[in-house]
Amino acid sequence: MAQIIGSPSRYIQGKGELKNLCTYASNYGSRLFVLTSVSGRKRVEPSIQAGMPGTGVETVYESFNGECSMNEIDRVIAAAKDAGCDMIAGVGGGKIHDTAKAAAHYMGKPVIIVPTIASTDAPCSALSVIYTDEGVFDRYLFLPASPNAVLVDTEVVSKAPARLLVAGMGDALATYFEARACRQSSAVNCVGGMSTLAAMALARLCYETLLENGVSAALAVTENVCTKAVENVIEANTYLSGIGFESGGLAGAHAIHNGLTVIEETHAMYHGEKVAFGTLVQLVLENADSEEIEAVVDFCNAVGLPTTLAQLGIKEVKAEQLMEVAELAAAEGDTLGNMPFPMTPEDVYAAIMAADAIGRNYAE
Ligand SMILES: [Zn+2]
Repeated sequence: MAQIIGSPSRYIQGKGELKNLCTYASNYGSRLFVLTSVSGRKRVEPSIQAGMPGTGVETVYESFNGECSMNEIDRVIAAAKDAGCDMIAGVGGGKIHDTAKAAAHYMGKPVIIVPTIASTDAPCSALSVIYTDEGVFDRYLFLPASPNAVLVDTEVVSKAPARLLVAGMGDALATYFEARACRQSSAVNCVGGMSTLAAMALARLCYETLLENGVSAALAVTENVCTKAVENVIEANTYLSGIGFESGGLAGAHAIHNGLTVIEETHAMYHGEKVAFGTLVQLVLENADSEEIEAVVDFCNAVGLPTTLAQLGIKEVKAEQLMEVAELAAAEGDTLGNMPFPMTPEDVYAAIMAADAIGRNYAE
């Protein structure tokens, strides 16, 4: 089987880069459809418009309805066509990006993704997660190409709530360990091929960047300031983890995350927070070196990522409920199958309980 790596054609990151959106967009067209939330528009429009004159690009703004559903995608396509737009920018969070990616794909037009938070590694990926209008998961829409450009204004991202950047670190924390497991098992990555040396190197760099910069970045954003550490973590969360997960592959940590979603109490937690705990569970399943486990737990404690079930909001641990989590995580088709050895739901249950005990042990 071929080795395949996917990537956006351009990745642009820097302080104040939002004002250059129209300049970058002029590479792809002349009329930019900007999909953003009502509140997001107030924050981003002044910068975008300030940089528009002289670029030859005109902008048309449209408010996002709140859910990445087929109805919303169809509505965005119709609005973009009515406005005569020849490219789409999704400015905001994950659901806006996914809607913009899907709409541009169906229209056959270029798409620029502009994250205003760094809470997940989804912006660079060739994937949209489609929900029903009511917000229930519907399906994954695998796209034939990654976004034409991803533009990250680090000034904007550093002003978002600190917990979002930390959640992004949780999502990025899993990347190296999942890519490593996939390489050991020769699993197929998210772009339909085998991992490359490049994807593995980016995944490793992602983990190292978090360890070196995570704590100071988490502290800096509590003051809403953008330091070099914050910029490094934004790159790790968005680009290194984005390429690392998609082209390295997903394994135990995300399967555990998916299992945890059956527990109502965890719904208040962000994706990356659950993935961080899932990473610890994966390491227990692998019986990883105690030094490695300690490094991961220390990192989580230092930046404020959960390492125990209680920290995930689960007040009372019920065995049958955790067994449900384990069964869902081990379900056929989920990425636990990418781990380099077979395991039963009972093994997963044991690893969840042990990970929780390890987390509690270090917290004391
Ligand atoms: Zn993730």
